Amino acid sequence: EQQARILTVSRDNIDRLARIINNILDVAKIEAGRTEFKRVLVDISTLLKDICNRWKLEFDKRQLELACLIPDLPINIYIDPDKVTQVMNNLISNARKFTPQNGKIIIEVKEEIGRVEVSVSDTGIGIAREDLPKVFGKFQQFSRSAGAGEKGTGLGLAIAKELVQMHSGSIKVESELNKGTCFTFFFPKIELEEVVKEYINNGIMAAVDRKTPLSLVIIHIAEFNHLQEKSGFELAHSLLMNIEKVTQEALRRRTDTVIRNTSELIVFLPDTGKENVAAVKKRIEEAVNTYLTESKEKWPENIRITLGAATYPDDAANDHDLLNKARISQPAKDKGA
Ligand code: ATP
Ligand code: MG
Repeated sequence: EQQARILTVSRDNIDRLARIINNILDVAKIEAGRTEFKRVLVDISTLLKDICNRWKLEFDKRQLELACLIPDLPINIYIDPDKVTQVMNNLISNARKFTPQNGKIIIEVKEEIGRVEVSVSDTGIGIAREDLPKVFGKFQQFSRSAGAGEKGTGLGLAIAKELVQMHSGSIKVESELNKGTCFTFFFPKIELEEVVKEYINNGIMAAVDRKTPLSLVIIHIAEFNHLQEKSGFELAHSLLMNIEKVTQEALRRRTDTVIRNTSELIVFLPDTGKENVAAVKKRIEEAVNTYLTESKEKWPENIRITLGAATYPDDAANDHDLLNKARISQPAKDKGA
């Protein structure tokens, strides 16, 4: 019993040190402009639900209530999921740290016109009015009780603010002493087509810079809208995600990227020229078809895919052209990409 107690204390201290070191490294990386920032199209509803589930036990242990007001609809936005998870983990751990027993923490996400809003609110000790302007500063800690416990470093919110700003978003705090605190952050919503364009633009710029080609392969799922209407969003969505996974696995280079659009997948192949794209396309097609045959029982009907490809600069002079060529070059395309 005593050993278990000592080991638990040791482990907690190691965890705490690791957190502090990671925070300091994060700040150093941000300041040096060396933070890896990789945005992908993510359903933030699912991401937040997963985060809530992971925290649930921790809250039960402390007799705190955790409510997740997250709509059952997907909210697809273009973010770095690891960074958003990091922001959430700090906000949630703060709420837990500064809320006494029997308190309540609410995580909420709302989709608004042009932006997505995520908030973490608690019924905890609150922050004094004069301290509010300082909360996002580095090494700022208020109302610290002395003694053992979870002493952080006061870096969490400074890091959170930087990470939100990398997404062109903003974060704010509202609080009242002894009532509670609410942190809210906003991300601008970029339309899917814009995301795709941004990818292609960046890809073409890099290609011009390095005098290399850029190829696109588009995987279109036939009758996708029909499947979605008939079998619901969830099933259609899981089909698309599974095909994305299989496609990703069929790719060989680290720089090859798959973007999930509403009913199609767009594969970016930097450095892949016209002479090689056909082989990559064939490899993807085979992998996806093998998967579809193996998982046939999961889908209510036979799923068919068609693939198209185009290469910059051989087939197209600009981003718009490249995307269109890749879309048009599909053999039998049904309505609505
Ligand atoms: P770290 O996150 O680096 O482990 P930390 O949690 O103390 O340490 P921040 O997350 O930056 O640091 O928070 C800074 C300070 O803001 C906290 O120490 C606390 O005084 C105050 N604070 C943050 N969130 C809340 C909250 N939900 N309720 C009350 N006070 C808060
Ligand atoms: Mg913190």
